[in-house]
Amino acid sequence: MAKQMILVPDIGDYSDVPVIEVLVKVGDVVEKEQPLLVLESDKATMEIPADAAGTITSIAVKLGDKISKGSVIAEIEASSAAPAVQSTATPPPAPAKAAAPQMPAPVAGQYSGKVDHECEVLVLGAGPGGYSAAFRSADLGMNTVLIERYSTLGGVCLNVGCIPSKALLHTTSVMDEVKTMSKHGITFGDPKIEIDQLRGYKDSVIAKLTGGLAGMAKARKVKTVRGLGRFLDAHHVEVEITSGSGQDLTGHKEVVRFQKAIIAAGSQPVKLPFLPDDPRIVDSTGALLLKSIPKRMLVIGGGIIGLEMATVYSTLGSRIDIAEMMDGLMAGADRDLEKVWEKFNAGRFEKIMLKTRAAKAEVKSDGIQVSFEGENAPAEPQIYDLVLVAVGRTPNGKKIDAGKAGVQVDERGFIAADKQMRTNVPNIFAIGDIIGQPMLAHKAVHEGHVAAEVAAGQKSYFDAKQIPSVAYTDPEVAWAGLTEEQCKAQGIAYEKGLFPWAASGRAIANGRDEGFTKLLFDATTHRIIGGGIVGTHAGDLIGEVCLAIEMGADAVDIGKTIHPHPTLGESVGLAAEAAHGHCTDLPPVKKK
Ligand code: FAD
Repeated sequence: MAKQMILVPDIGDYSDVPVIEVLVKVGDVVEKEQPLLVLESDKATMEIPADAAGTITSIAVKLGDKISKGSVIAEIEASSAAPAVQSTATPPPAPAKAAAPQMPAPVAGQYSGKVDHECEVLVLGAGPGGYSAAFRSADLGMNTVLIERYSTLGGVCLNVGCIPSKALLHTTSVMDEVKTMSKHGITFGDPKIEIDQLRGYKDSVIAKLTGGLAGMAKARKVKTVRGLGRFLDAHHVEVEITSGSGQDLTGHKEVVRFQKAIIAAGSQPVKLPFLPDDPRIVDSTGALLLKSIPKRMLVIGGGIIGLEMATVYSTLGSRIDIAEMMDGLMAGADRDLEKVWEKFNAGRFEKIMLKTRAAKAEVKSDGIQVSFEGENAPAEPQIYDLVLVAVGRTPNGKKIDAGKAGVQVDERGFIAADKQMRTNVPNIFAIGDIIGQPMLAHKAVHEGHVAAEVAAGQKSYFDAKQIPSVAYTDPEVAWAGLTEEQCKAQGIAYEKGLFPWAASGRAIANGRDEGFTKLLFDATTHRIIGGGIVGTHAGDLIGEVCLAIEMGADAVDIGKTIHPHPTLGESVGLAAEAAHGHCTDLPPVKKK
């Protein structure tokens, strides 16, 4: 056990910087790169990390001391078993934490066996969060290893989520639109569905995108290791190498030693324990396989994923019931938006059973027999050819032995991360679905970028003002920032500008004028705080509202921005004009 001094490393142009926090005490066992102090200059706040692992034997600084490069911070008795990570120079001071989870420093077990791969940054999981983090990390010059159990990169989103569902939704929306053309004097015959070809199209879309990711990983020299990763300690992950199209274990194991890790292991569908094991009971992944078109289908769960899949299958010809325990569909969206969807879709589904839950299911020779409980439960059990369970997703936090690295995982499997995406272990970050709601790909991507940038020593934060949500149903429903319901619940005074698409030339020309665009402004500052759109392409249109919220725009900024005519996008500018009462595309506002 050798004693060594820990000195303030090169902190750029700063000198005589006051100590605002001492994070350790004599006797503490610290990890290499664990923050010891927080300094605050007039320009920046920075953490000073330990450059070795061991036990603190004395501390040379106290609160308020002013220190510079080379000042002694502490004396440490270096632990002999400390991981011999191939380190570059002293790690640069990390920007200070923003409300980092204040949990006890971990005492992680130390692995001392063989090592197959060394890296500065290990990313566990190659979904949108993981591959974005890995690519950003490589772009910032860090030697990066990406671990993924499946044969393709892209995670849930590209393989069994966002992308395949949208490939199918596009197809079915064209089928739906074609049916309306008879009103325009154009008649097509009934569609002929070649299910194998449709499945093949969907698979080709996935292959194009995941193949592109593999190429980009190669171009960036990100080393991908195919297998199931689990932590051995705070600097090692063991990968059980997998093969085939699933996650078949080959029996071969490889160990990766890392300086920093980004956990991006995502989530999986929630299972309902009372449902029997039967190929006719599927989750979203099973429904996206599109094995056949069931005659009668039950969708359990009226959230976005359930409604998107119900839209696809109903257009393909299935008769569908939807059971939802809550008193409304599409939780999170304002009711006025959802009502437009509901009215437009009256007749699309057999039954929408709100405040009703599937309580029991039995496998019968002619289908799955489901009994219901609740306000709108049918008196008799119903028989279905396919049951889709879409009741939410659960994080994979409990499956990666995070505890061996000292990373805290809550009882549901979530891992807490601060605004710099750090977990309670300073050299380990977490991003995406595994850190919490909303479980959306665009959130995961942005978090991935922040984690990689902070790992590289940059002062990045995840400080988004809004994370948009979109139901890619027909019509689409999209919202960003605060909803009206949230404003009311939080007592926020707001002003509203609403532009009905019944007054939009483009929506009328498209024969789809059922929607509307609404913007919410803070009643005091007049800055935009939220917005919602229901109508065709609402998901594409909401991007402008997102930008306006991030930029702190007010109704004048948005209303005076010249939008192209005639477009659906115009409705955003017109809703802003409506907010200050002079929209010339609407009837005059009655004088009070
Ligand atoms: P994931 O995408 O879950 O990726 C995690 C990766 O880690 C996976 O590839 C997994 O195999 C791998 N992994 C896990 N554990 C290990 C391990 N131990 N070792 C090695 N690898 C491991 N979001 C949107 O924003 N827009 C949409 O339109 C949208 N549509 C969706 C439709 C459906 C049907 C579903 C199911 C989801 C949809 N989502 C959508 C949600 C979106 O897919 C997720 O939010 C997103 O994929 C989360 O990204 P992630 O990187 O956190 O994790």
